[in-house]
Amino acid sequence: MKTREVLILQGDGIGPEVCHEAKKVLEHINDTKDLGITISESAVGGCAFEEFGSPLPEKTLKLAQRSDAILLGAVGGPSWDNLDYDLRPERALLGLRSELDLFANLRPAILSKYLSDSSSLKPEKVLDLDMLIVRELTGGIYFGEPRGRSDTNESAFNTMVYSKNEIERIGRVAFEAAQKRNKKLCSVDKANVLEVSVLWREVISDLANEYPDVHLSHMLVDNAAMQLVREPKQFDVIVTGNLFGDILSDIAAMLTGSIGMLPSASLNSKNQGLYEPVHGSAPDIAGKGLANPIAAILSVAMMLKYSFSLNEASSDIEGAIQEVLSAGYITHDLEGNNNKKLSTSEMGNKIIEKLI
Ligand code: NAD
Repeated sequence: MKTREVLILQGDGIGPEVCHEAKKVLEHINDTKDLGITISESAVGGCAFEEFGSPLPEKTLKLAQRSDAILLGAVGGPSWDNLDYDLRPERALLGLRSELDLFANLRPAILSKYLSDSSSLKPEKVLDLDMLIVRELTGGIYFGEPRGRSDTNESAFNTMVYSKNEIERIGRVAFEAAQKRNKKLCSVDKANVLEVSVLWREVISDLANEYPDVHLSHMLVDNAAMQLVREPKQFDVIVTGNLFGDILSDIAAMLTGSIGMLPSASLNSKNQGLYEPVHGSAPDIAGKGLANPIAAILSVAMMLKYSFSLNEASSDIEGAIQEVLSAGYITHDLEGNNNKKLSTSEMGNKIIEKLI
């Protein structure tokens, strides 16, 4: 049987807690369905810096390059906030993304009908919300050169740059995703101000000729931020660059009630993927059993679907989560009357119970 190699990088803060639950679910479904998944683990982030002097040690990078899919918890925390730029835990994420060429970041924002009270918007605005943000992840201002300080240290600068190729390959991922959904794609840019956005718009518009079944629209990023909180259900798929996608996907996250519910996938052209919850290391609740593990567990579901094409196993996990929520079980970050609040590990166990 084909072997499928998964690397788990727990990271910092609540990373180990949510990864523990996600690993339990992955092991369970691997055993019951005989999926041939092998799991290894390695260090990343602040804890890797403490042990090895680097947030992305050589050994971790090598294991990541060899694996088919990576599950990452979260990195960062106040202990490492004052480290030099290249040693900061977040550098590990940027390093993994660029070393593995994970250029396509897929972030679904789906509101479970059992949690519409948890959204920051009125329930009728978000009921049945199901959208996907496709964010370019390895280009744009986060990676553009030159970057730095002026000689006098009186100013600092970054460069926003996109090549036609970079725009085209993320555009294709987004058009193809839209084809499998409701065939609506909104490209978000700042073409009224930025030259790089003018090119972005040209390339995406040209690409649309190859996908006549998809309805393409363009929106400026400031308007997109407003529309996301005004009428979020107008969107099906959004495609945008690295910086704008970073911000818009966090706005979309809050529409769904909790950042603890949202998974993400970052893929390269070989479907090798890094799967991680959208949230950070949440140092304020780390070690207290308060973290919601659902985003990490849904990241496993995305992994099974996108890296291994195991759609049935992936749907089983999503279904088990819906069953648990429909029975009124939630974690501390979610709102709801008459609900039963579970700890991180109790939520993991409940989801496994429903998988049996
Ligand atoms: P955060 O996502 O860690 O936390 C924001 C808020 O959401 C906190 O109140 C936290 O308690 C809550 N929260 C987050 N995840 C939760 C979960 N699963 N269950 C329940 N509540 C949850 O963002 P932040 O506070 O801005 O950042 C904290 C650290 O995480 C920083 O060091 C930051 O750099 C890092 N960070 C890492 C990643 C990543 O690893 N991908 C992403 C964002 C932030």
